[in-house]
Amino acid sequence: MNSVFLYTPKFEQFEFSEHHPFKPYRAKMVYELCYRYGLFDYPWVSVLDPEPEDASEMLRFHSREYVEALRGANKGYFDVSMLNHGLGSSDNPVFKGVLDFSLLVLGATLTGADRIASGQADIAFNPIGGLHHAGPDFAEGFCYVNDIVIAIKRLFEQGLERILYVDIDAHHGNGVQDAFYDTDQVMFVSFHQSGDTIYPGTGFENEMGTGKGLGYTVNVPLPEYTDDDAYIRAFKTVYPPVVRAYNPQIVIAQVGLDTLKKDPLTNLRCTNNSFQEVISEIKQSNSKVLALGGGGYSVKDVAKGWTLAWAILNDIEPHDPYQGLIGGAMYGFETSSEELYDPPHRISENLKKEVDRFVDQKLAFIEKNVFPYLGIT
Ligand SMILES: [Zn+2]
Repeated sequence: MNSVFLYTPKFEQFEFSEHHPFKPYRAKMVYELCYRYGLFDYPWVSVLDPEPEDASEMLRFHSREYVEALRGANKGYFDVSMLNHGLGSSDNPVFKGVLDFSLLVLGATLTGADRIASGQADIAFNPIGGLHHAGPDFAEGFCYVNDIVIAIKRLFEQGLERILYVDIDAHHGNGVQDAFYDTDQVMFVSFHQSGDTIYPGTGFENEMGTGKGLGYTVNVPLPEYTDDDAYIRAFKTVYPPVVRAYNPQIVIAQVGLDTLKKDPLTNLRCTNNSFQEVISEIKQSNSKVLALGGGGYSVKDVAKGWTLAWAILNDIEPHDPYQGLIGGAMYGFETSSEELYDPPHRISENLKKEVDRFVDQKLAFIEKNVFPYLGIT
């Protein structure tokens, strides 16, 4: 096995705005935690410093007008015409280097995709990628470039024809779903807080693809207050049979961690215990996994979770070289590797009944209406 972690200190030179919840410096926090816990100290692991992609690469998915609008916004000055492309909203502010940042994220994701496609790597992780909401002609939901759609299109060009995309971000991966809704070359599976209660208001169980793509989109909406138990049950009911039936050549996983109970933008109640189980399922499901960060706004918790994800993807245990030697916070915000793991969290019995009923209904719908298209009995 060979694995690559994509990271450059250039990521944290960018800031959407002072109070914007998307923090590019999350990438540095994950890098530093992985480093601290020895998760790069293995012969098969390399850390790559990605280069920005050329803007022309965006044209695989985005319109020329949109790329030009983003180029115009790159100096950081807003002009009202940019709003036609979603630029300058509070979600997607115009900031200095907005195009440079997008091309750097894209460069990192495509480096990971290329390494896997060429056989040089089996596992790649770009913690700042996974910008699943960006549309062909507009930015939305904190996403300016859809690195996922572009990576998939590039993999098509390299001859791949069965790509499974799994999205565990708390928000529905609408940009990716829309791009491949009518094809069977991408198996799209998304677990997310129901569009009834959160942005982007899509991803209902009856959105299941169209034409040749019918059955190749699987949406699992989850109710507010979904806990680890319900999450794992939903994931294990849907993901393993879908992977077995589809038999993908590669799995692309958007591993957003805004599912955590501490996340300020969502209403789920998960801990990183269910996250670890899900990452482990994803890792076991295919020898080739391109993992992309996505959302997650309780920044320290996200850094801890993604550090655990990197460990799981590499079959290694985090260990703390300083453990037992020193107390206090001198070596960073975690003082022992045990602190990477969240304590269990329980929701009330009444709430749990409601959550379970909701999830059971969605799972029954999917088993009855979507699985038959995939030959799952
Ligand atoms: Zn999200």
